[in-house]
Amino acid sequence: MQAIRVHQTGGPEELKLETVPDPVAGQGQLVVRLAAAGVNPVDTYIRSGKNNYAPKSLPYTPGIDAAGTVESVGPGVHKFKPGDRVYVGGSLSGAYAQKALCTESQLHALPDKVTFEQGAAVNAPYVTAYHALFDRGCAVSGQRVLIHGASGGVGTAAVQWAVSAGLRVVGTAGTEAGLKLVKDQGAHDVLNHHDADHVQKALSLTDGKGYDIIIEMLANVNLNNDLALVGRCGRVVIVGSRGRIEIDPRQLMSKGSSVVGTSLMNASESELLAIHTAIFSSLSTGAIRPIIRTTMPLSSAAEAHKLVMEPGALGNIILLP
Ligand code: NAP
Repeated sequence: MQAIRVHQTGGPEELKLETVPDPVAGQGQLVVRLAAAGVNPVDTYIRSGKNNYAPKSLPYTPGIDAAGTVESVGPGVHKFKPGDRVYVGGSLSGAYAQKALCTESQLHALPDKVTFEQGAAVNAPYVTAYHALFDRGCAVSGQRVLIHGASGGVGTAAVQWAVSAGLRVVGTAGTEAGLKLVKDQGAHDVLNHHDADHVQKALSLTDGKGYDIIIEMLANVNLNNDLALVGRCGRVVIVGSRGRIEIDPRQLMSKGSSVVGTSLMNASESELLAIHTAIFSSLSTGAIRPIIRTTMPLSSAAEAHKLVMEPGALGNIILLP
């Protein structure tokens, strides 16, 4: 089969299309024929060895998220059978490939109405957004949430989850197209995070009371402003950060507000079970609808890695093996 291989950490040019042996399902394993693979920023961190990430071993096939059809199952597999449509959240062999070797727990049923391209955009964006909003942010209906960076994969997912749960949503983006996309997902108000006065505007949308929850995609730029924007006993949930920042901690003291981090990797088994159950039913009803910015052939993985790190996000980038 064809797969992208990385032989040494470095730039996008390290992503090489190669022919490798087909995976074979062992005890408790499945082979999934992949129809689409999702491109996440973390894939670029692992490839380059940046932001505290590194490949577990070299060479390796990148990619966490994908979707496709179960091709074969090994002994001891009970949950899935050949022909089942699934989305993939992690694998033993990597997602930028025509096939992936997976454990049962890495696969989740994909509703018939959801395309494989959309399925490849489900796992990291929607699990992260749900975990940030509801498990770490403790969001409940009627609360105000600011999604600071709402135009990308996690941001559009967070807007959809928050709207469907009855929150009052303000989302930010950095381009006109991004602002329209965020509004189209149901955000009640949108702001451009590059406007110097967007913090003041964001505060005025709450009548000065501040937000119950802030979902932050770029904490190294925004965290100190978030401390001004968060309301009494509110929570800033850090999803993304690409550097350091100086903050004034007194802003937390005066309001009893808090800052929490979140990581997909830290979600517990019971949280993940609840999240994937919510994903299946919300995909089925259309309450969540993964946004595909563009699809590219697997051979364009390097181009996809450049694009995902450029400004102007509009949902998810998908590779077609
Ligand atoms: P993405 O699709 O590339 O989106 C990036 C988002 O950040 C876009 O909405 C972008 O808006 C926004 N952004 C750019 N400049 C900003 C600024 N000054 N202030 C606020 N937002 C700004 O990436 P993603 O998949 O949504 O992931 C977002 C971040 O979360 C990444 O850093 C990623 O590594 C991280 N992440 C963390 C976890 C976790 O478990 N903690 C899981 C998944 C992702 P414009 O492009 O419109 O300017």
